[in-house]
Amino acid sequence: MGQPRAVDQLMAAARRPVHAYLLHGPSGSGKRAGARGLAAALLCPDGGCGACNTCRRALAGTHPDLVVVERTGASISVADAQSIVTRAQRRPLEASRQVLMVVDVHLARDSVPALLKTVEEPPPSTVFVLLADDLPPSLATIVSRCVQVPFEAVATERVVAWLVERGVDPDLADSVARASGGSLDRARLLVSDADFVTRQERWRSVPTRLDGTGAAAAALSSELLAAADQALSPLRQQHAAELEALADQAEAMGSKSIPGRRQVEEGHKREERRWRTDDLRFGLATLAEVYRDRLVDTIGADEGTHSAGSAAEGRRAVRQAEAIRDASAALERNPNESLLMDALMVELSGMLD
Ligand SMILES: [Zn+2]
Repeated sequence: MGQPRAVDQLMAAARRPVHAYLLHGPSGSGKRAGARGLAAALLCPDGGCGACNTCRRALAGTHPDLVVVERTGASISVADAQSIVTRAQRRPLEASRQVLMVVDVHLARDSVPALLKTVEEPPPSTVFVLLADDLPPSLATIVSRCVQVPFEAVATERVVAWLVERGVDPDLADSVARASGGSLDRARLLVSDADFVTRQERWRSVPTRLDGTGAAAAALSSELLAAADQALSPLRQQHAAELEALADQAEAMGSKSIPGRRQVEEGHKREERRWRTDDLRFGLATLAEVYRDRLVDTIGADEGTHSAGSAAEGRRAVRQAEAIRDASAALERNPNESLLMDALMVELSGMLD
């Protein structure tokens, strides 16, 4: 959905398979769904009919010849790369080939040399489908060995239009679209989240609630983190429903348990961590906007006077914007979140000035 160019390219790719694909684009742009579709096309005896048992399991991520490899730590380590190389040598279990889907390849740094040879020339029955949020220079050698399939974030206006078509109030659609980061899945869940607006208001209230005391800074930090935990509940409900549907499917096929249940659950956990980080980053972006608006107001009020006061305000606003931007970037690296938020609130409260 929303990726006609990527879909065309994937369809063409599956007709004449090569040894490695690289699906790249921002988080939430549909790379995983694209990779599963590609896997279905590569594993299905009819080239991806979409209806057979092979296609259904590939699309659900439960086919044994669709091997999904996730990093074990903050990056793809050399040990992760070695286990990918080992998996690439295995024979397919059911289909004529196996698809090795490696997630977050943009986080492979030291492990690029260990991966390169196998990605360049895997055994004939192995096809790599690599997923990356972006293409850092460290990845250049791997990029050059793969057929690239770019995914674009869905433009905010299109998310708004999509929501309004579904009966969502235009004002809410606008805030949700901006919080969705171009992901229709995320937008759909946020609309069903009764606390979304409250959470946004809480972030907006930060500058007025910081009163220069450590107590206010600490209270806000823990409130904002607790709200990010609560933000997970619609996603958790969706995951529970997915497991239920998989259990029904398994039962219909005469199986007592869901095949690959552990992988599905691990995938859910990773998605929840990602969701929470995205929620915090959107909160920080909202907060940065509030500070920016305040600065614009200050400058507007002082126009023509160029007072020393407004220069000091300006410098302070720049520091605040930098602190928020740094905190947002640091969230990507799995930090101690409460330390990070405490430090940010203290910085923003001006206690260090
Ligand atoms: Zn099929």
